[in-house]
Amino acid sequence: MTRSVERIFSFEFFPPATPEGVAKLRATREQLAQLRPRFFSVTFGAGGSTRDRTLAAVVEIQASGQRAAPHISCIATYRQHGIGHLVALRGDLPSGSADVGEFRYANELVEFIREETGDAFHVEVAAYPEYHPQARTPHEDLANFKRKIDAGANSAITQYFFNAEGYYHFVDQARAAGVGVPIVPGIMPILSFSKLARFSDACGAEIPRWIRRKLESFGDDASSIRAFGLDVVTRLCDDLLAHGAPGLHFYTLNQASLTKIIWERLKLS
Ligand code: FAD
Repeated sequence: MTRSVERIFSFEFFPPATPEGVAKLRATREQLAQLRPRFFSVTFGAGGSTRDRTLAAVVEIQASGQRAAPHISCIATYRQHGIGHLVALRGDLPSGSADVGEFRYANELVEFIREETGDAFHVEVAAYPEYHPQARTPHEDLANFKRKIDAGANSAITQYFFNAEGYYHFVDQARAAGVGVPIVPGIMPILSFSKLARFSDACGAEIPRWIRRKLESFGDDASSIRAFGLDVVTRLCDDLLAHGAPGLHFYTLNQASLTKIIWERLKLS
């Protein structure tokens, strides 16, 4: 069975810092473009430190005929480059910095984008099925998520997770609170245990015990990690799509291979 591509599939990159990284990303993008995603997004670094590189990456993607969506904490010069799709985030302050910048929270950024640019941009915001690490309570975090939608966001992409039940619960709660926009699950292919553990500690995503224990047990055996990770993540994606997820957003880490294999296994032609 082939699933329809009407759902929203997107791939995330980080802005490369070296000429080699730029060339590698170009090759990755060319491979993933064959999967015909709705858009490619490009992250920014803490405190806007990669703004120029993020801009350069999205301009190159857009010039190749694909739709590019920078993750932003300020709208900067994107509009004049014909960018119509943004991922609006508060971002995290560089550690030790006390400067909160122009916007304390992402809902203020979304409001600003709408005030300044009307409907010029399709605006995505972040969602946290396992709740944002700084959230005081799940209830407040959901209310804060809704603020971003009420401020005019068109859709949301979630932090990655491995427990689909948490996502379903979050979507149910959001719907009950009156949020109607698509909430697209963020998917993290498993490249290595140490990297995954580091990201997860930083962003508060839970690695279920059974996954952690299995990955740890493989030690340096990269092919076992890869095979197990592909099975786990493919099954997660399959479950999400079968339960009506509106699409998938892959945190590609600028590598095409795992995302492509998952895509093929899901028969998302
Ligand atoms: P917000 O929605 O502002 O929420 C931040 C915290 O404040 C939450 O705890 C929330 O409950 C609380 N809050 C929100 N609004 C209010 C309010 N009005 N009053 C009181 N409390 C409030 N980071 C990067 O640095 N670069 C990236 O490119 C990047 N891309 C990402 C992409 C996705 C899909 C996701 C899910 C995250 C990404 N992040 C990125 C991480 C993100 O910047 C951090 O998680 C950041 O801490 C929160 O950003 P936010 O936009 O979700 O913030």
